[in-house]
Amino acid sequence: MRISSLPAYLSACLPALLLAFSFPAYSPPALADGLPDLGDAGQVLLSPQMERRIGESVVREMRLRDPEFVDDPELTEYINVLGNRLVANSQDVRQDFEFFLVRDSTMNAFAMPGGFIGVHTGLIVAAQSESELAAVLAHEIAHVTQRHMARMVSKDGQLSMAMMAAMAVALLSRNTQLGSAAAVLGQSAAITAQIGFTRDFEREADRLGFLTLEKSQFDVRAMPEFFLRLQKAGRLYENNAPAYLRTHPVTTERIADAQNRIQGLGYRQKPDSMDFQLVRAKLRAEQGAARDTLAQLQGDFKDKKYSNETAARFGLAVALLRSKDNARAEAELAPLVKSTEHPMIAGLAARIKQAKGDNLGAAETIKLALVRYPNNRALNHAYVEALQQQERHAEAAALLDEQIRNYPRTAQLYALRAKSYASMGKRLLQHQSQAEAYVLQGSLPAAIEQLQLAQKSGDGDFYQLSSVDARLRSLRQQMETERKEAKEGKPGM
Ligand SMILES: [Zn+2]
Repeated sequence: MRISSLPAYLSACLPALLLAFSFPAYSPPALADGLPDLGDAGQVLLSPQMERRIGESVVREMRLRDPEFVDDPELTEYINVLGNRLVANSQDVRQDFEFFLVRDSTMNAFAMPGGFIGVHTGLIVAAQSESELAAVLAHEIAHVTQRHMARMVSKDGQLSMAMMAAMAVALLSRNTQLGSAAAVLGQSAAITAQIGFTRDFEREADRLGFLTLEKSQFDVRAMPEFFLRLQKAGRLYENNAPAYLRTHPVTTERIADAQNRIQGLGYRQKPDSMDFQLVRAKLRAEQGAARDTLAQLQGDFKDKKYSNETAARFGLAVALLRSKDNARAEAELAPLVKSTEHPMIAGLAARIKQAKGDNLGAAETIKLALVRYPNNRALNHAYVEALQQQERHAEAAALLDEQIRNYPRTAQLYALRAKSYASMGKRLLQHQSQAEAYVLQGSLPAAIEQLQLAQKSGDGDFYQLSSVDARLRSLRQQMETERKEAKEGKPGM
């Protein structure tokens, strides 16, 4: 097995995955004298906690090492709000879900163990409606709630390394390099990686995804429509079919099932949200070569080839800013700033001001928008950055305290706060905050090192030092527990 041919982030997480899958200690005693019943989602070898841990480590590696992992708070916020709205109407809301975007022009979405769902930006750009995007997400959510990943792994009653590696490859098969890696994993594994989920699992995900889509009040006709378009695209590309088709084969049967489900249902027109339209316009403007994309968008706008003028103009302004034509970007956006209140429009106006070197104006624009949208994460994030640019670090740190109270699991916020503390010369607080960023990124040794630096900083009071000591003790203990688990092969969770 040539693991070295896998991209860095995958090969880095493989040892963790191998560890997770290769210990017989995971099989519950009840399964010892018979194969698990595949019909039951509850009876699988992989515990939900272990699934979560695997998913977390894969996403963490992707975030750190994949340059195409989307770090844009506006886009991440959108896909999470949409995804979680669907989750709330799905079959199982016991699990936390996290959605993320990968900058890739192919149409694809993939579910990972533990509730992590990745969406290619190409899928949003190609979606003809928000309902189509929601249909794909609802299907992926069902793969997670039905624990299809874990059930696939336990199919043979024992876990083979090739099987596990093939699954990881299948999960991340958007990368062509990974595709060729699949070929060396042995034939059965490679086939699994190509086929992805079994027909039964696809059928189940379609059926439950449909119910979720309907309950969330999206247009359910989007499902068969999207399948048909995918199938057409598949025929067009032949061997180079959209990645989604490889992991979720769209068969005539699936299309027929989806069409049967919408029979007799009333017509429900579901207009696309402004969020969706602006996100899609932004992604369109950010793809391809800057100059070509700008020319394309200018042409479309001139010929009125758009479904929504506001979104088209917004996209054009994004493309102009990307081409560093700041003056024209501002002129193009100006009518929208007046006519349409939306956090993304205010955010873009601020970014254009920043590009023009008007940091003060940018900060004012965001501050004004925050009065109307005080909880918007992207605006708060942009405001922190604007404050930091102006060396207003005490204000930035105070705003970050508030954000961290609301979103205590976002590593980026702790890292930004550490930056402000560093500029303020508050060394204990700087290292303490950086330590929390590392904890969330999964690097305990780096976190411990930061806390040791905090201890030696010499600028903390008694209470601050005690809290550093206590945290250090608990992290050391956690690291020791994890080391023992790895040695004994027990998940301990
Ligand atoms: Zn599927």
